Amino acid sequence: MPNKKHGHIAIVGAPNAGKSTLTNALLGQKLTIVSPKVQTTRNSIKAIVIEGETQMIVIDTPGIFIPREERILERIIVKSAWQALRDADHICLMIDATVGMTEENIRIAKDLKKENPQITAIINKLDLVKKGTVLEIMAKLVELGFEDIFPISAETKDGVEKIKKFLCEKCVHPSWIYDEEQITDAPMRFIASEITREKLFVKLNRELPYSLTVKTDKYEVLNNGQVKIHQTIFVTRESQKSIILGKNGVMIKEIGEEARRDFSEIAGTKVHLFLFVKVKPNWMNSVENYEMIDVEKLPKQ
Ligand code: GDP
Ligand code: MG
Repeated sequence: MPNKKHGHIAIVGAPNAGKSTLTNALLGQKLTIVSPKVQTTRNSIKAIVIEGETQMIVIDTPGIFIPREERILERIIVKSAWQALRDADHICLMIDATVGMTEENIRIAKDLKKENPQITAIINKLDLVKKGTVLEIMAKLVELGFEDIFPISAETKDGVEKIKKFLCEKCVHPSWIYDEEQITDAPMRFIASEITREKLFVKLNRELPYSLTVKTDKYEVLNNGQVKIHQTIFVTRESQKSIILGKNGVMIKEIGEEARRDFSEIAGTKVHLFLFVKVKPNWMNSVENYEMIDVEKLPKQ
């Protein structure tokens, strides 16, 4: 195709707004973690979407919020989101219609608009609110100077095709930069960790997402094309380890089974997954856990 083009689109917004759900909807398959709990996406993930002659690289960011001084992890999450904006040709701010224009949302919208006058607003979760609520949010966004505003439901896909077409128009750089079959630039071992982490959050709904992390220790492509993965789940307390293992190891077996199934779909091959649980009281403050992010460049507040 002679008219191939590409561009980078970043989706930002508060945690839980639906950024990952939209990313997956644009991609047409599951790639990034979707969860009703906040901050499940810790790093920015790129989804590579192909629409006709356009390769649109969608950057799914962790939520933007105001981090607490003492939490290294919170600062890293927010830093990673702001960093993604620099890589982008176009930025979309996603507002959760069920939350609306809170003070924090207004502040973030203003800051973003100042730096990126072309920014597009997406109002998500149309399916959950009345029309009047959407109109109120729109009015506020217009007042803040937003011109392009798209009400959508990432869940029901209402409005998703329309925004996809619009965003394709923003991809103006010549040629493609990724292979046709590639759906993400993230290392497969990282995606594999994210999938297991998602299953843990969904299954262990009483536990805080913060108190665990998943590391892929081994990712091996076998001669027959199948993939063998070893992962360690780090928790901070012995009691969390017993919860994850479950009675007679039933819980960990279910988690492994679901993660394996999802990851097989993404990898496009049979996956053999082995999970281990380790107690490591201080993992949250050890810098080695943040290998995807340059910790030297964290904001000093
Ligand atoms: P993120 O933190 O911005 O990436 O948000 P997620 O994509 O993880 O979504 C947060 C929660 O909102 C999940 O439970 C989603 O299923 C839900 N969600 C996302 N978009 C919609 C939507 O348009 N309608 C409804 N009803 N739920 C949604
Ligand atoms: Mg997300």
